[in-house]
Amino acid sequence: MSHEGSCHCGSIRITVNDDPVDASECNCSICRRTGALWTYSSPTKVKVSGEGIGYVHGDKCLTLFHCNTCGVITHWTPVDPDYDRMGINLRLFEPSLWTELPRLYVDGASW
Ligand SMILES: [Zn+2]
Repeated sequence: MSHEGSCHCGSIRITVNDDPVDASECNCSICRRTGALWTYSSPTKVKVSGEGIGYVHGDKCLTLFHCNTCGVITHWTPVDPDYDRMGINLRLFEPSLWTELPRLYVDGASW
């Protein structure tokens, strides 16, 4: 099924053609600050419209995007284009999509 979410001001819209099965919270240095709740999907199933600001940190394997206007963290994409996985912030979507999902706790701080 297809789900559409957006940042607070609406300049960035994300459509995911996938059904999230769980919601991941990560304790790495950036996720613990932003409070994003992640689902992961193949970039081929995700459409992002609107320009965000990319931030590359740490081991430089992913780019984390946020909205230039409202500041909401929207998604991350792999720096390596062959890596078939990206992260989407579930908090952009209607709560009914994600509040009941099992929470996974990702120990990103130890990677
Ligand atoms: Zn925005």
